[in-house]
Amino acid sequence: MTEYSLIGIIYRNTYEYFKKAKIWAIVEQCMSLFQAVLWIIGLQFTQHVFDLVVSYHNQSMIQNIVYSLMFVGIIKVCEEIVSGIKRYLLSKNSYSNMGKFMVDFQQKLGKIEAIHFEHSQFLDRINRAKECLEYESLGHFASNCLHILGYYSILIVLTGWYLYNLYPPLVFIVLFAFIPSCIGRVLQIKYANHLEEMTVSSRRQAHYYKKTIVDRQYFKETRLLGGFHFFHTLYKQSIEAIVRTHWKCEKKLFILQLTLSIVAFIGLSAAVGLLVVATLDQEISIGAFASVFVALSQLFSLMDELVMNKLDQFGETYVQVANFYRLMDMEEASNQKGDILVDKGIEANGVFFKYPDNKNMTLKGIHAHIETGKTYALVGENGSGKSTFVRLLLGLYAPKHGQINLFGLDTSCVLGSHLYSSSSAVFQHFQHYQMSLQDNVWISKTTADINVQNIKKALEKSQFKRKISGECMLSPEFSGIDLSKGEWQRVAIARALYREHELIVLDEPTSAIDPIEEVRLFYQFKNMTKNKTALIVTHRLASAKYADEIIVMSKGKIVEKGTHQQLMALNGVYCHMWKSQEHWYV
Ligand code: ADP
Repeated sequence: MTEYSLIGIIYRNTYEYFKKAKIWAIVEQCMSLFQAVLWIIGLQFTQHVFDLVVSYHNQSMIQNIVYSLMFVGIIKVCEEIVSGIKRYLLSKNSYSNMGKFMVDFQQKLGKIEAIHFEHSQFLDRINRAKECLEYESLGHFASNCLHILGYYSILIVLTGWYLYNLYPPLVFIVLFAFIPSCIGRVLQIKYANHLEEMTVSSRRQAHYYKKTIVDRQYFKETRLLGGFHFFHTLYKQSIEAIVRTHWKCEKKLFILQLTLSIVAFIGLSAAVGLLVVATLDQEISIGAFASVFVALSQLFSLMDELVMNKLDQFGETYVQVANFYRLMDMEEASNQKGDILVDKGIEANGVFFKYPDNKNMTLKGIHAHIETGKTYALVGENGSGKSTFVRLLLGLYAPKHGQINLFGLDTSCVLGSHLYSSSSAVFQHFQHYQMSLQDNVWISKTTADINVQNIKKALEKSQFKRKISGECMLSPEFSGIDLSKGEWQRVAIARALYREHELIVLDEPTSAIDPIEEVRLFYQFKNMTKNKTALIVTHRLASAKYADEIIVMSKGKIVEKGTHQQLMALNGVYCHMWKSQEHWYV
């Protein structure tokens, strides 16, 4: 995992903040600086007013005192106005930047190799990056850094200079009170980092268990199975695990914060004591005493805000921001392109493949040649690797060893979107988009304007028989209707047919259609895809029978190949499977 230095993250995040918010980020910082300068001017004039009041001896000074008081008042009003503008700019910049960071994030996800999405650690990282965006951490972190480097630094330097000129020991007392607090915050950042790492997987689990209870997709089955208590217990356990870890860290942090507050209190008391001594010794005027006395409590609350609030937020958001950049810096898939040579077909040469979370190879040395224009059926027992092989043929995953050439392009070296442009596919778990019927089909080719006629044709070809208009919303959640599983599967097939393709893959999307109907659909499908390469994954062999060639897989290998007649004559795995299914069709 890439390690990032604090300075590196601060530089990168603030640079991007300025780049995205442009002039508004500069205005926001100018407001901060202006506010710090106003504060120090106000402080000096307060001292001046007190000195005037103390040395008051005749009527003529009244006017002077009133003017000075008015000036202090104007400064305070300006301070409030500037602070309001600054707060407005901060949220404006944060919101607009959040959208821009979100776009960067989504584009990045589109460029990361699909296989990473099978890795639990990567999913955790995505989850954290999403949280970072949702909580606006990127904007908060940058504006916090700029605030600390700008407003607070200027304020501290100017106040230090003012106090030093007044009475030098005061500066050291104030520093003594705050340096330990700052060190404490750095330790807090470490705790926050640790906490984030420790709880991310429990948070993901908790999120999932919550979904199984309340999500529309799950709740019917969960209730029917009586699984509510089961999932509720799991949810509770993962929440308890998160709370336990939080509590351990919170306890340590509480002790730390208590110590810091005691140090700050001792610092404030010592500063006030020093002030009293200096005034009694007439080293500072009574006016200076009064103004510094007022300013000290303001300064301490400002410092408190800096240490307890700003640095605290800084610590928490730093962890999220570092994680976000870790994801943004992940290696991207190749962006090479090449000529698509359809006639070359698809070639698999000694292909091995392993999922990131699996110890064993799922595909173990596959050799195959898929000829252009033919229909293939991929059959085999569950878990034999059919779906995995199909994903590799489409170029979604790259082989661990060996090579796949899709229409003359090596899938390991070519840009994903370029590879996918020639293919269309329906997977087992295809999406039910909560959109209209026609949009559900059009989604496969949104690069071109919607073609209602072609959508109708695709729906006819896929045997979608329900008489509803294209605009009909397919989602009860959006005041529309729901389809049966079989109808949804036909919509998904229409979606695949509507997209221009040279290769079309159906990975068992027809399980909800009865076997006889499936055979009919596949027979028609073969005619529909004439001159195109088609690959059908199915465990129902009556459908496979019509394919030009049947590929039989077992335990990650191709064990038999040939036509139905050839494989039956072979009397091997296929023949055995066929005999066990024969009764479905008689
Ligand atoms: P089939 O399509 O023949 O049923 P699959 O290709 O779906 O087989 O799965 C082959 C093997 O790969 C199975 O043992 C399965 O457990 C494993 N597998 C599939 N998907 C993943 C995944 N995302 N992560 C880890 N292992 C997986």
